[in-house]
Amino acid sequence: MASSPDRGEGLQRARTLLRNVRAALAQPGHAQQRLDQIVHLIAQNMMAEVCSLYMMRDADTLELCATEGLNPAAVHATTLQVGQGLVGRIARDGTAINTNDAEKTPGFVYIPGIGEERFRSFLGTPLQRQGHTLGVLVVQNQSTRLYDEDEIDALELIATVIAEMTDAGVLEDLQSPRILTDPKMIRGTPAAEGVAIGKVVLHEPRIVIANPVAEDAGAERARLSEAMEALRDEVDRLIAHDAMDGGPGEHHDVLKAYRMFAHDRGWLRRLEAAIDSGLAAEVAVEKVQTETRARLQRTNDAYLRERLYDLDDLANRLLRQLLGMPPPGPDDLPENAILIARNLGPGDLIDYGRGPLLGVALEEGSAGSHAAIVARALRIPLVAGLKGLINDAQTDDAFIIDGDIGRIVLRPEPQVIGAYREKISLREQEEKRYAQIKDLPAITQDGVTIDLHMNAGLLSDLPGIPMSGATGVGLFRTELQYLISSRAPRRDAQAAFYSKVMDSAGGRPVVFRTLDMGGDKRLPFLKGEAEENPALGWRAIRIALDRPLLFRTQLQALLRASKGRPLSVMFPMIADPAEFYEARARLLAERDRLAARGLDMPEDLRIGAMLETPALAFAPQRFFELSDFVSVGGNDLMQFFFAADRSNERVRARYDALSPSFLSMLRKIVEQCDDAGTSLSFCGELCGRPIEAVALAGLGFRMLSMRPAAIGPVKEALRSSDLMRVNAILASALEEGRNPRAEITAYIVENLPHQAAQEMA
Ligand code: PEP
Ligand code: MG
Repeated sequence: MASSPDRGEGLQRARTLLRNVRAALAQPGHAQQRLDQIVHLIAQNMMAEVCSLYMMRDADTLELCATEGLNPAAVHATTLQVGQGLVGRIARDGTAINTNDAEKTPGFVYIPGIGEERFRSFLGTPLQRQGHTLGVLVVQNQSTRLYDEDEIDALELIATVIAEMTDAGVLEDLQSPRILTDPKMIRGTPAAEGVAIGKVVLHEPRIVIANPVAEDAGAERARLSEAMEALRDEVDRLIAHDAMDGGPGEHHDVLKAYRMFAHDRGWLRRLEAAIDSGLAAEVAVEKVQTETRARLQRTNDAYLRERLYDLDDLANRLLRQLLGMPPPGPDDLPENAILIARNLGPGDLIDYGRGPLLGVALEEGSAGSHAAIVARALRIPLVAGLKGLINDAQTDDAFIIDGDIGRIVLRPEPQVIGAYREKISLREQEEKRYAQIKDLPAITQDGVTIDLHMNAGLLSDLPGIPMSGATGVGLFRTELQYLISSRAPRRDAQAAFYSKVMDSAGGRPVVFRTLDMGGDKRLPFLKGEAEENPALGWRAIRIALDRPLLFRTQLQALLRASKGRPLSVMFPMIADPAEFYEARARLLAERDRLAARGLDMPEDLRIGAMLETPALAFAPQRFFELSDFVSVGGNDLMQFFFAADRSNERVRARYDALSPSFLSMLRKIVEQCDDAGTSLSFCGELCGRPIEAVALAGLGFRMLSMRPAAIGPVKEALRSSDLMRVNAILASALEEGRNPRAEITAYIVENLPHQAAQEMA
């Protein structure tokens, strides 16, 4: 197959092919005839000996639906699983494969009877629409050669058009439409807690594009430019609206980043290039988005992957502008709506949040996404990472979302709905019970008071401080503000924010943790090198010490924010006491410098360290003596102690915090802090579980900091426990090398009020 001498000629040929394919698709007659004609046209135009079209038969299976050049008897008789062979890999990964020797390409499988042995070169590309793979289009030749850029572009263009027209129903008689009635449960990642029963509302309604090919590129460019203008206005309006709703807050920063994307010249250029190749503006938007999605999904950069949701959101808005469809909003929501989306940008969720929205279920997304941040602020459940959700969800299907454990049920059986109604009513009763003890201290049966603090980090957490029953904020994760900004927040903005946090705490203590980034928290404006093991890499205090300006700006902001009030500052991920000494010295020097300039410095400055590395548990006594306080970050401490990635469910869940070895280390930490007179707290997720919290209190922890929703259940369990008894259980288990979980659980269940014991059991 000869490649075109220049791009202009290649483009011309691709356009002619596009027109012919569209004409073939629009012809009357059976779908099979249209498909046969299309593969023939492609093969002829691209001088390929083979052109085959595979379509998704169901979520897992591809079927050969038409071929020019392979055995005709194999059509509709050959199926491949997604992931199987080169074609299955293209469907799975959503990316093209171009090889001059198919048989030697990783993943190749031999399919008997299809007759492709002779063909060495292979170019396959996915048929995608709105993130769904509908099939795979392949050309093959006998000679061993790589297909050139023009050929790849042409095949991708044709694939885009076939995908559009398939979705518009031109091949309907080939595939019978499905109506799903079976219940389906899908597990995902819990990203915002809460439980709701409602019905499905699809965020991305099926957009039907009747004419994917356009003759007049100039006219399409003009339509695009008009729609782009309208999109930018829409984003500006969103920003103005958000500011009126109490910003500037985290939403505001996110939306500003959004505005930047809407003005991105690279995006516009790619869209115009797609139009120039013969596509209608709407199809150009989808094609560019499909490519962006494929590119970003391959990257290891978590931050960039998160941005994909914003870009998807913008592309959707642009499409709606082109099609004259009003943007989604609260008025589109019926009662009891649970929103289903592949993923959701923060802008959309802010819009929807003004309506009767009960929850959000995402096929992709993650607990760290902007949408999750907004959902928590709106106090509605959000579950992310629900594989296959969109394929199975239909408008108005009954739907249960459980943001506590990260599970959804589609079209649930009446018994399941009943069980969830029960769960919701139990939650309401629980809330009432916790409300009754909200203002009581967490005092155990034998008179020991445990200070229950909350973890926070967002502007939207602040109103919750007085409501939660927390006696303070034991961990304020300052990096969350940075994670949603496209550049480092300025010192004065930081200081204003920290000051607002102290105001909201109303005199309760707040422990500010300095920037804990790196690991899974990649900052948009701080470029580090890609790391093989980011959890063990350049992160937290290591970055702070290596980037003095960034660190100093934050320390100054904290000191200025105090305006004479007491201030507690904690440094994350200390592995070597020297890191703590250095960070502490810089904070004190900053304080002295600002005091010398006449600024009002904290009346009481407490400086502490997070104990998140096993190394620090073995630090010399001097470290404990010099720290005003130590807070055990159990999430990271467990990760490093057991060498088990905290974000990998498979390995994380294997290890128990109540194993004798982990408990022994915690006991050692308690003893060292007691000896040095250092105040000690625990602020990892696990102290928000009643059994673990009681065990930690038994070990000697007197301060626990947790998510606000955990305070009620933990307080209830502590108030019904006798720590002498728990201590005895722990002592004998540790002596005999046993895990005390079963015994402590039995003890708590025995002593809780009847209703709470039933729930725990
Ligand atoms: C921890 O590691 O336990 C902790 C509280 O910090 P983060 O979860 O923010 O890493
Ligand atoms: Mg940590």
